[in-house]
Amino acid sequence: MLTSVLRKIASLLFTVPALGLGVLLWGSAGEGDVSNQMHRVLPLIVLGIGSGLCLLYGRVRVLFQLLLLYASLVLLQVPVAHFQRTGMLLPATQVIFHSISLWLPLLFAGMAFWPERGRPRRDIGLRCLVLACVLLPFSLLAQQNPEGMQRMISDVHWPALQTDISALAQLPGWLFLLLGAALAWRAHRRRRPCDIAALLALLCMYVMLPRIFMTPAVLVTTPLVAMALLICAVVQEAFDLAFRDDLTGLPGRRALNEALKRVGSQYTIAMVDVDHFKKFNDTHGHDAGDEVLKLVASRLARVGGGGRAFRYGGEEFTLLFDGRDARTAREAIEDVRMAIEQARMQLRNRSERGRDDAQGSQRRGQGGNGPVVHVTASMGVADQRAGSSPHAVIKAADKALYAAKDAGRNCVRLHGQRTMAEIVGGKKLAVD
Ligand code: GH3
Ligand code: MG
Ligand code: MG
Repeated sequence: MLTSVLRKIASLLFTVPALGLGVLLWGSAGEGDVSNQMHRVLPLIVLGIGSGLCLLYGRVRVLFQLLLLYASLVLLQVPVAHFQRTGMLLPATQVIFHSISLWLPLLFAGMAFWPERGRPRRDIGLRCLVLACVLLPFSLLAQQNPEGMQRMISDVHWPALQTDISALAQLPGWLFLLLGAALAWRAHRRRRPCDIAALLALLCMYVMLPRIFMTPAVLVTTPLVAMALLICAVVQEAFDLAFRDDLTGLPGRRALNEALKRVGSQYTIAMVDVDHFKKFNDTHGHDAGDEVLKLVASRLARVGGGGRAFRYGGEEFTLLFDGRDARTAREAIEDVRMAIEQARMQLRNRSERGRDDAQGSQRRGQGGNGPVVHVTASMGVADQRAGSSPHAVIKAADKALYAAKDAGRNCVRLHGQRTMAEIVGGKKLAVD
């Protein structure tokens, strides 16, 4: 419970620097000209940094979202600055404003739902092509008949659907709400920083647009906050990718190596291996195997006694107890073994599993009416006394794990004779 709350909070860490930037910008924006040198250069710098990171990590959809935010800011800067100076609107102001409030949510959400596929260069080319095919004819039409276009966007088309929720015109207002809801649904399902950032960025623009003429400072603050949210989310996802296992959400091998560098003088390592997992895969399929690994990982993540769970690789996991010897960690290890033994999962019937990968992954985790399955795990435990370095202790724990397999599986084995006296009475515990 606590771990899942902490994980949810951790997935929002990327918002902190972006909000910090927002506070700084808001403080310095004041009543100044929104198109001054600083307000022209700063977004360009943010766009440059963001684009570089997106290209480095292959985040093409975020790259285009950044470009859309930047373009909206630049297109609005001149009309708002003119209004700030003269109190008058330029002739094109209304059509520019309404066009942005129509196209920004559409294209921004469109980029979010357009999957990143193939080589980045091809992906970028395709997206540029689609943007050109949509925006060029629209701009030509808008230039020929600005009033007609403006009316088309800003008129009330459906009186029954008219609400006061948004100060935007009816069509853009509803587009923001519906596409925002779609992004919220996606962010809820995937819980990935870039999806959450896309939702927050769209929300920022929704709040900003109706206010830019009354409070011009929002124009030079909000798009930058939205861009910073996206950039920080890319950085957080890159960090997660390096240190977190994609399937189970547990920290991965690299995170374990980092943690092992920092362990104190007393620590315990348990190597965990799912029993007969090859057979499970052969019987129920690889997808069901993946689901079971997630189930095992969720039980391991709840380990007590100050332990931390890592995915070591394949169907092997590691528990690390810093500051505990094997004697004090063993109860928590035995509890987690029992939790895995007792966990049940209902599979879907093979016919329900979806025809392709996309359908399969969509239905995955929804339960079903197939057989109820469970797995067990064997565990080998060693503490700092078993080796001169954490890696030697891992080897010792691995040896104890083999002993647990030899002893019939679904049990915990401690390394070394010295712990024998300490485990007397533990039915499932034995020593090698
Ligand atoms: P034992 O009880 O001796 O550990 O037997 P086992 O079958 O679990 O061990 P073995 O090493 O023979 O097989 C491990 C299997 O785990 C083989 C491999 O296909 C499967 N596996 C490894 N990683 C994954 C994964 O990410 N997803 C799935 N579904 N299977 C995996
Ligand atoms: Mg194995
Ligand atoms: Mg195994």
